[in-house]
Amino acid sequence: MELAKRVQTLTPSSTLAITAMANALKAEGHDVIGLGAGEPDFNTPAHILEAAKEAMDKGYTKYTPSGGVPALKEAIVHKYKQDNDLTYETNQVIVTTGAKHALYTLFQTLLDPGEEVIVPAPYWVSYPEQIKLAEGTPVFITTNEETNFKLTPDQLEASITDRTKAIIINSPSNPTGMLYSKEELAAIGAVCLRHNVMIVSDEIYEQLIYGDEQHTSIAQISNELKNITIVINGVSKSHAMTGWRIGYALGNEKVIKAMTNLASHSTSNPTTISQYAALAAYTSSQEKVEEMKEAFAERLERLYEWITAIPGVYCEKPKGAFYLFPNVREAVQANGFDSVDDWVKAILEEEKVALVPGSGFGSPDNVRLSYATSLDQLEEAATRINRFVQKHQ
Ligand code: PLP
Repeated sequence: MELAKRVQTLTPSSTLAITAMANALKAEGHDVIGLGAGEPDFNTPAHILEAAKEAMDKGYTKYTPSGGVPALKEAIVHKYKQDNDLTYETNQVIVTTGAKHALYTLFQTLLDPGEEVIVPAPYWVSYPEQIKLAEGTPVFITTNEETNFKLTPDQLEASITDRTKAIIINSPSNPTGMLYSKEELAAIGAVCLRHNVMIVSDEIYEQLIYGDEQHTSIAQISNELKNITIVINGVSKSHAMTGWRIGYALGNEKVIKAMTNLASHSTSNPTTISQYAALAAYTSSQEKVEEMKEAFAERLERLYEWITAIPGVYCEKPKGAFYLFPNVREAVQANGFDSVDDWVKAILEEEKVALVPGSGFGSPDNVRLSYATSLDQLEEAATRINRFVQKHQ
């Protein structure tokens, strides 16, 4: 059967591919440590589970408005006022089936064929595919360790054409864990304003920042920037709610209205019970979020130490999210492998540790390690990777 061209060129998610290989080895009885996960290992906090059960008991199991239940939209508006000092009206919010679907719907809403979206690399794997599905063209700007994987205003300026529609800013970033400062965002924002380029600000890791630095949304910098920014966020990472599938977009009323129309013909609405769970997540104590963050902070410190002690492995210390993104080119060469992808496969086969090769993120010299797993597992994984590297010298 001939499939549509739009799906023929889709590349399967590299994160999911390595997870599938690791699961196959596990099913054969091997003791596999998976560092590929893009989700917190914690359970959804108990009071959120209770709120979902209560929602079911109350009969909140029917359709809701396409853009989400009004109470949740209000809670999101309140969250952005309180945490980010940003004022939105509820008609500037759409609740979606995860942040992923907020992005998908946004690109479908914004892009005409051939319009370009600037994607700083390394990037989250779904951005390019979603842009292509909307018949847009992803334009990659390569960044590396020299600028802490951050895009410079000059690089941005040089990439803008008369077809440029938008740029994606993902801070803190998956996969690098890097965080843009307010000044850096202001400088990038100034270029966008000058060239009439919209900003898609993916803030899904906003709550997971370690050390003294603060998250700044680019929309906070000025009203002018707020007006050209669509903010994307959700509860998946902050509240350990990946399976509930609740995300959202905030911004220009006309864009949000069009996204809501589109949602009314695709998802109808995000799962009703999950919306009530997300409402509880935002309107109750954030103590559990803090606890999870502290656990991640400790893991980052330890894993960073263990990983950077391995010969030929170099790493910028992340400021947020739950990933390390070390450059392993030297180790890969010293071990006699042609590519990081082959090296990662060999580590999985020999030492049963699953890493994600950087190629899927547009950065072929790096690997991504997720520390959304226990300290014991992380220590054992680092020991095994070190053993592999030493053995193949
Ligand atoms: N944006 C980034 C950068 C992510 O890493 C992810 C999840 O991995 C998402 C968006 C999507 O999150 P959600 O689970 O809410 O769809």
